[in-house]
Amino acid sequence: MVGAESNRRDFLRWLAVSGAGVAVAGMLPGTASAAGAIVVITQVTLIDGTGSAPRRDVSVVLADERIAWVGDSGQVPDTGGARVIDGRGKFLIPGLWDMHTHGLDLEEIVPPLHLVHGVTGTREMWGYAENRATRDKIERGDLLGPRSVLASGIVDGPVTLLTPPVLQVSTEAEAKAAVRAEKAAGAEFVKIYSYLGADAARAIAEETRAQDLRFSGHWPYKLSHVDASDLGMHSFEHFFGTSIHCSTRRDEILARLVETPYDPEAPRDFFNLARQLEFESVSAYSPAAARAYFGRLRRNGTWHSPTLTINRIVTQPAATHKYDPRLKYVPADLRESWAMGIERFAPKTPEQIALQERYYQATLRLVGEAHEAGVGLIGGTDCLNPYTFPGSGLHEELAFLIEAGLSPVQALKTVTADAAKFLGRERTSGTVTAGKEADLVLLDANPAADIRNIAKIDTVITRGRVLDRTARRRMLDAVEAAANRPPAPATTARLRSLALRGCC
Ligand SMILES: [Zn+2]
Repeated sequence: MVGAESNRRDFLRWLAVSGAGVAVAGMLPGTASAAGAIVVITQVTLIDGTGSAPRRDVSVVLADERIAWVGDSGQVPDTGGARVIDGRGKFLIPGLWDMHTHGLDLEEIVPPLHLVHGVTGTREMWGYAENRATRDKIERGDLLGPRSVLASGIVDGPVTLLTPPVLQVSTEAEAKAAVRAEKAAGAEFVKIYSYLGADAARAIAEETRAQDLRFSGHWPYKLSHVDASDLGMHSFEHFFGTSIHCSTRRDEILARLVETPYDPEAPRDFFNLARQLEFESVSAYSPAAARAYFGRLRRNGTWHSPTLTINRIVTQPAATHKYDPRLKYVPADLRESWAMGIERFAPKTPEQIALQERYYQATLRLVGEAHEAGVGLIGGTDCLNPYTFPGSGLHEELAFLIEAGLSPVQALKTVTADAAKFLGRERTSGTVTAGKEADLVLLDANPAADIRNIAKIDTVITRGRVLDRTARRRMLDAVEAAANRPPAPATTARLRSLALRGCC
């Protein structure tokens, strides 16, 4: 026992000298948390999230919630009885960020599904009191779940496709007041929506700058992407409108959208018109327009969040998704609203199916072009929209990014290092680097060789907590059991409106 204790002391001293310092100092003998958790992952192949090639025979030392040391396995002394995870034959990557999510507050379903699949961070795209409360619970350690960066409530114009808690603003004063109120309520950025007016969008740009926030969201139809980007838009969601801006029909279509009013009696008509024009614009693709457009976004620092997962789902016939085996993890009433929601979007006639397939394939090509052109990309699913599953959905997103032309290592970067950079969290997240948060995924097979290996998970580590196969199996079983119980009616109503009203 004495030998083991002194080995532990020696190991901690070595770590204090060689490691990230901060995380380890409190664990040295004689201090209160001397018993703090040390985990060592040994002899693993590391794909660190920076875009660098895989590096063999690396060991990673975790101290509580931080990565304390990363280096060649040969340099690690006797670990003094610390928990060791044998990484031989395995591949270590940073925890994944799903950069477009919903429904964190469906607490028994969504947070565990993210974690089980290696998603240790989410950008929640519609903030309201309930998901803020869930985020706080997770932060306090009262609930196991991913880190979450929360949007404001959705800010839209006086006509909207959405139901409350949407924030409808008409004037510049209302727009600015909404920004201030949402910041006070804890929003980390402002989410804007499709029917926001041009003047209100300008006011939001001005007020977010004054409040040291960024704004992201749907393309507001009454502004061009270029104008929105020039105003400082941080990310465009869903690739809405991109094909229009990369076509010879851009000016004609944008003028038509500016001239067409929103109909409060039939708010969906405008959305459908814009979608149809978007589908059709694909056949007027212009390489010169695309080059100029992507160059402008890159220079402005506007990112694309193409959410290919939901894009793929809604451009296929509704029945495509009916027998997905993952549906057992979804509560019955949400399943029902998915089935109804998909009917609104899914193409039905052979002509519609062919048109939307062409649009989706063109979207893939344009995502590849955006990446080539140096436009920042972040990977996201838009989960809880119809058939968009938390956690495993992000694995699909990565596969779609490969189809768009990214390499596996580049695709991984969009949901790790680039995600952290987008969020301003590059000092604490996104790569496997000493000093950063201990959010990691250990895989049984090489994701750089085949991105589908992202689903072959051995262990997930979230805030230093190790979720091995047994723990994750238990979590999945609990999700399935919870999906078979009726959830709180208020939650259901909100998620149902989300599934029925459209991508948010
Ligand atoms: Zn969304």
